[in-house]
Amino acid sequence: MYQSSNNRYEAMHYRRCGRSGLKLPAISLGLWHNFGGVDPMENSRAMVYRAFDLGITHFDLANNYGPPPGSAEETFGSILRSDLAHYRDELVISTKAGYYMWPGPYGEWGSRKYLISSLDQSLHRMGIDYVDIFYSHRPDPETPLEETMSALDHIVRSGKALYVGISSYSADRTRDASRILRSLGTPCLIHQPRYSMFDRWIEEGLLTVLREEGIGSIFFSPLAQGLLTDKYLNGIPADSRASKPHGFLKPEQVTQGKVSKAGRLQEIAKRRDQTLAQMALAWVLRHPEATSALIGASRLEHIEDAVATLRNLTFERDELELIEKTLSS
Ligand code: NDP
Repeated sequence: MYQSSNNRYEAMHYRRCGRSGLKLPAISLGLWHNFGGVDPMENSRAMVYRAFDLGITHFDLANNYGPPPGSAEETFGSILRSDLAHYRDELVISTKAGYYMWPGPYGEWGSRKYLISSLDQSLHRMGIDYVDIFYSHRPDPETPLEETMSALDHIVRSGKALYVGISSYSADRTRDASRILRSLGTPCLIHQPRYSMFDRWIEEGLLTVLREEGIGSIFFSPLAQGLLTDKYLNGIPADSRASKPHGFLKPEQVTQGKVSKAGRLQEIAKRRDQTLAQMALAWVLRHPEATSALIGASRLEHIEDAVATLRNLTFERDELELIEKTLSS
């Protein structure tokens, strides 16, 4: 029987999520890759335990994580049931709906019909009564924003989620969504955008909206799926995401330009006494609007490496300038 470490709250930092009462760990763990039905259960289980032992209280899922879709929720449900159930009140579990899940007109996007049915399925797969955070996984260009937001409000009122969030919404749509949710009495807790040294779209307006609206943020793929680590510096390893048929990082995305920048960034990281992955995480967490960096992992060491980032989160001005120069070269 798993017993968590008594020191689990000692190393982690917890940051307030926007203007809410909820704090999230500075490092959270996502189950997009390496927790599906195709992955060894023992490794998935060991990573969840290690994460929790290191103070990672937040685990991020979505209806479609796997493969096959839904299987990451089943894996997490099974770990929860067997060993983590008595820690439920120490965990923040999130899931999402937005991408394709089942055939027909009600199996994706942002209708009330899809969101509510999908959450019911997710709760069933995980064997829990509620999630802590439920997200609209992507903006739907056709469904009225009012419908999607009122479905989120309904979900909170029905007790199936404690908070709601949005993912990958543009700055303008985020402001609109936030206003609608506030008017309904269910404030938007959090936004989940992609953000890393290699993808900086949120700097063009979204961060300002999050600050003004009091919404927290959790940045996904802060390591650019592994490109901002030492993994690809000498080619594509056989067990890496880029070499797996179901991996979302395709070999053609491992470009010479990215690898060469990663190599130069690693030199800066070394001078900070950090790994490249740690510097990349510290870099996304440098914003006052940043609540959490949402990492992925395929082995325990990735989680340990990420949590050790917290030993040095500060940057000198010349380090930031050198990083800018490297990224724009
Ligand atoms: P990262 O950018 O953190 O990439 C994680 C991958 O990087 C790992 O699987 C591993 O690759 C590699 N890695 C991590 N640490 C190290 C290290 N120290 N040394 C070498 N390699 C390392 O995040 P993800 O892309 O996995 O996304 C994280 C989470 O974000 C997801 O699980 C999901 O919860 C969320 N997400 C949300 C989306 C949305 O639309 N809202 C979309 C995508 C993700 P390898 O497996 O090859 O070993």
